[in-house]
Amino acid sequence: MRIDVLTIFPEYLAPLRESLVGKAITDSLIGVRVHDLRDFTTDRHRTVDDSPYGGGPGMVMKADVWGAALDSLATPDTILIVPTPAGRPFSQQLAQQLSIAHHLVFACGRYEGIDQRVADEAATRMPVLELSIGDYVLAGGEVAVLVMVEAIARLIPGVLGNPESAVQDSFGAASPGLLEHPSYTRPVNYRGHEVPAVLLSGNHAEIARWRHSQSVERTRERRPDLLPDTEN
Ligand code: SAM
Repeated sequence: MRIDVLTIFPEYLAPLRESLVGKAITDSLIGVRVHDLRDFTTDRHRTVDDSPYGGGPGMVMKADVWGAALDSLATPDTILIVPTPAGRPFSQQLAQQLSIAHHLVFACGRYEGIDQRVADEAATRMPVLELSIGDYVLAGGEVAVLVMVEAIARLIPGVLGNPESAVQDSFGAASPGLLEHPSYTRPVNYRGHEVPAVLLSGNHAEIARWRHSQSVERTRERRPDLLPDTEN
């Protein structure tokens, strides 16, 4: 998979070189390039924003600059992802679907966001996903891109040391729509808190049943919206 990120703050994406995604880059499982949007401006001041039509606070990112940037990166395989709090919710299911894509381009907005015509025009020639990472407003799309790239990259075959991890995770295929059960490691007693005895029993069927019930219980408590009406 190739990933291109367009931003006015390229340094913000430096963490992509670390940890799991960094290793996937080193292992050539993914290729990541970060581009400075200002390189696609044509004026002396490298301007990327202008005041909004119709008035109102803040500035809007200019369509022509974004258009030139996307033209330089688009291939027949490109999926354009535009992070925005006004987008569809990003999810594990979407991360799974995107993990088999060939080329993702992420467009990091700033200020009041990007002129809507950028996504609208791009959608006439490539798939475009306007995606939100949650119901709150960040100052820019860079952090949202870090979140999405990490969620997608760990699902690419070969990136996780043990692919079973992703299956067992919250929202994973082992328990779709459920949060993961709690996990424990040594010591058996931590400040008076014991590891649940069933996990020491060696009875794998019993352990699997206990974990599933813990998943359901946790989900009911913390995220009842995830459960079908019958389990609620
Ligand atoms: N005026 C916009 C609105 O209310 O929908 C918010 C713009 S926000 C200050 C600037 C940029 O941050 C957005 O263009 C987007 O790239 C990013 N952003 C902010 N919150 C986000 C979220 N919850 N999910 C994804 N991207 C977000």
